[in-house]
Amino acid sequence: MNERATLRLKAGRDRSLRRHHPWIMSGSVDRVLGDPQPGDTVVVVDEASRPMALASYSPHSSIRARVWAFDVQQSIDDGFVAARITAAAERRRRLGIADGDAVRLVFGEADGLPGLVADRYGSVVVFQITTVGIDRRRDAVVAALASLDGVQCVFERSDGDNRSREGLEPTTGVRHGSLPEPVWAHENGLRFHVDVEHGHKTGFYIDQRDSRRLVAEHSRDRAVLNVFGYTGSFSVAAARGGASSITTIDSSGPALLLAETNARANDVNIGDLVEADAFTELRSLRDRRASFDVIVLDPPKLANNPNQVDRATRAYKDLNLLALKLLRPGGLLFTYSCSGAVSSDLFQKVVAGAAVDANREAHIVRRLGQPADHPIPLHFPEAEYLTGLMLLAL
Ligand code: SAH
Repeated sequence: MNERATLRLKAGRDRSLRRHHPWIMSGSVDRVLGDPQPGDTVVVVDEASRPMALASYSPHSSIRARVWAFDVQQSIDDGFVAARITAAAERRRRLGIADGDAVRLVFGEADGLPGLVADRYGSVVVFQITTVGIDRRRDAVVAALASLDGVQCVFERSDGDNRSREGLEPTTGVRHGSLPEPVWAHENGLRFHVDVEHGHKTGFYIDQRDSRRLVAEHSRDRAVLNVFGYTGSFSVAAARGGASSITTIDSSGPALLLAETNARANDVNIGDLVEADAFTELRSLRDRRASFDVIVLDPPKLANNPNQVDRATRAYKDLNLLALKLLRPGGLLFTYSCSGAVSSDLFQKVVAGAAVDANREAHIVRRLGQPADHPIPLHFPEAEYLTGLMLLAL
């Protein structure tokens, strides 16, 4: 490891770093001195060679370096990584985040650990590495996660397609202990099967915990439509909340089977499971003059980068327009975007446009977003990816 390598910024390109934004983009780099290897720690200096930060070097990524620490005296070693993991877990503990055992323990930059995400499901921790800097510290990551109170299994799910940008191969498997079967996420008195090995993300959408509770609270005696159901978690929540009928749409057969498993595991009936394309099925429901009291619209990420925002907003508009048409007067729409490239402001405008075209008036009765275990640092707004609105249709 070449600790002395230096990355010098172009004149005037130190502003975001001075505000503690943790990314150094390739266009800001004047020179790299000392031949650092991928994942090496470099000293970032301004144009006058004044040290500003220590960062991990990613020569193949447009995010050329990610800050480990603004204190340049800090040693970036296994102990540093372990301490950050312990601190992240401790912050969640102090916040008393979850009424259950499914918690995001580490959320990348928000916890000072760029490229690392770790989710806990009871005694199992599933982590994902997406950058070469933290990849080099994998053993320390595993040891630190394994040493947390009550953890018996640490599983790696580093199979996201974003790894290739950093020159990393996909890798998954048990890294500590053995994987219990099945793994459950307990939440708000419900439990959900977590497919640690093959499920989306680390196996479950922990980030919708607060919204599931809200949907449960508003489901009593209501006809509920859950679009993009996946694990059926919103449907199960609605059933527990006393919904009079539930319809779940997903284009994936296996997802609907998972929804069924989760309904059984919670001893509830989640009604109709419809395997269909959501856009087509919503149109068909509209043509059949179907209507609902509560609709949940939680599509997959529709924009992976800024270039896809236009196309994504058209899709969001289409979905929200159709959903608003299916809502009974006084009905509630819980609508989301998990595309980081679509700001909450833009999302709200898109939904407002959909309401105009649907000829419906609606009120925002609550703004929705990431729960407290997916925090957004003030100096790193990019951490925000999930935005949503709870709307009351008039
Ligand atoms: N609300 C879910 C998470 C949604 S993930 C939960 O609480 O777990 C997105 C889901 O949308 C996936 O299950 C995927 O199979 C489904 N999907 C993707 N494109 C779709 C489409 N065009 N029509 C219907 N479902 C779709």
